[in-house]
Amino acid sequence: MRTDFRISSLVPSGLVFDGVSDSSDSIILDVRSGYATAVCPLCGVAADRIHSQYVRHLADLPSAGRRLRLRLITRRFRCEVPHCRRKIFAERFGEKIPLRARRTARLEYIVHHLGLALGGRPAASLAKRLMLPVSNDTLLRVVRRRTAVPSDPLLVVGIDDWAFRRNHRYGTIVCDLERRRIVTLLPDREIATAQAWLAEHPEIKIVSRDRGGGYREAAAKALPEAIQVADRWHLMENASAAFLDAVRRSMRGIRTAIGATTINPELLTCAERLRYQGYLRRQDAHAAIAALVRNGVPLKEIARRTGHSRNHVRRISRGVGTDVFRTRQSTLDSHLPFLDAQWNGGCRNGAELWRRLKRQGFKGSLRVVSEWATRRRRAETATDRQLQKVPAARTIARLMTTKRDHLIKAETVSVAAIENGVPMLADARALIDRFQAMIRQKATSELEPWIGESKGSLIASFAIGIANDKAAVHAAIALPWSNGQVEAQITKLKLVKRQMYGRAKLDLLQARLIGAQ
Ligand SMILES: [Zn+2]
Repeated sequence: MRTDFRISSLVPSGLVFDGVSDSSDSIILDVRSGYATAVCPLCGVAADRIHSQYVRHLADLPSAGRRLRLRLITRRFRCEVPHCRRKIFAERFGEKIPLRARRTARLEYIVHHLGLALGGRPAASLAKRLMLPVSNDTLLRVVRRRTAVPSDPLLVVGIDDWAFRRNHRYGTIVCDLERRRIVTLLPDREIATAQAWLAEHPEIKIVSRDRGGGYREAAAKALPEAIQVADRWHLMENASAAFLDAVRRSMRGIRTAIGATTINPELLTCAERLRYQGYLRRQDAHAAIAALVRNGVPLKEIARRTGHSRNHVRRISRGVGTDVFRTRQSTLDSHLPFLDAQWNGGCRNGAELWRRLKRQGFKGSLRVVSEWATRRRRAETATDRQLQKVPAARTIARLMTTKRDHLIKAETVSVAAIENGVPMLADARALIDRFQAMIRQKATSELEPWIGESKGSLIASFAIGIANDKAAVHAAIALPWSNGQVEAQITKLKLVKRQMYGRAKLDLLQARLIGAQ
């Protein structure tokens, strides 16, 4: 263990320590070069004739809670090589004291990494606590200046867009899929921008991109030899969307198919079930009242026995009010037998009914009558079909693509009804299954026959899209590359962007994301 600590050991190697002065918050070390000569930067010959000297001030790493500064005597030399155009030059101090730098290399290193890790403002406030003399702007400048450009050959890239500001500005991200890192960020998502960047990298052999047209076109123009890979996730997603679309277009058939099956209370939503139960209760009550009426029991007695109002009992006895939708008491009540007769006689038009009622002395408005007609019409068609809820297209698509053993019994019944009633949809489901299985199992030979069969199906337009992008889809099935990790990089990018409090200038984002890798 060294015990003979000397303050001169704080000085970067190659420098001679001349003395120290200090104030309450900083230590200043006077230093100079330990060599008598310096090498001319132009001709490379050592010179020993000193022309003049000046003092450079450099910040260094803090020491024991105090800032450390170097006061560096810098000599100017005369180059005496006859043909050298450099007559006078200032001596240089190697990598530890970069040319014209105001910070030593070791301080700059720390500043750079603080900036990378935290971004401008948060890094600056931490730097202040660490006694590192750097401002927010300096940090950003250092990070920008020191951004390392990856030099490894770029063979496989993934390209996608990302939101600079959601719905406002989009950029393009390019990732090295082999090394799992961001290669560049481009300021927009224009085809020309991506194309220009790709064209500068002719070494790229494979481009993975989403299924939109932009990057596909950019890559085709810039790198016609490169293999394009359609993104697998988007392929799966588009296949699901195509099936959903097929379901939507088949809803008429689906409604018929489901409506034809017997009502299943389990399928009903809660509200619907309550209404249905009420309906059943009323049906029972009505049946009981009707039976009593048929047996000649007086209405007053029926009302007493059943607990229903005499009016209600009277209406039942007339055969009115058996519809599911309870009718409101209205001015129509006394005219109901007449209305009933008209209705049963074939007059179903509200306005016409109203005119006929008026001739009978009815004083109410047309609206009352047309509402009654509407209720009556509904009640008549209130078959099981109306009571059974037909699920939304999205639900049907999900039910039809879920494994059978994961469905509850009622769902299985619905799916079976749809498959029997709308066989084209069952075919489309089978084709989507095959497409997704083909991707999962990397079965490239299936692609061509699949396209052929699908062109005549409900998912024809999806199949045509696949056919138009066949090479890239083929590559997506065959090759391991996918844009999945680009998504992960975009997530990382968003995180860094948020840390930067709106100072997310592109080059800085780039510096932090690429420099940090
Ligand atoms: Zn020279």
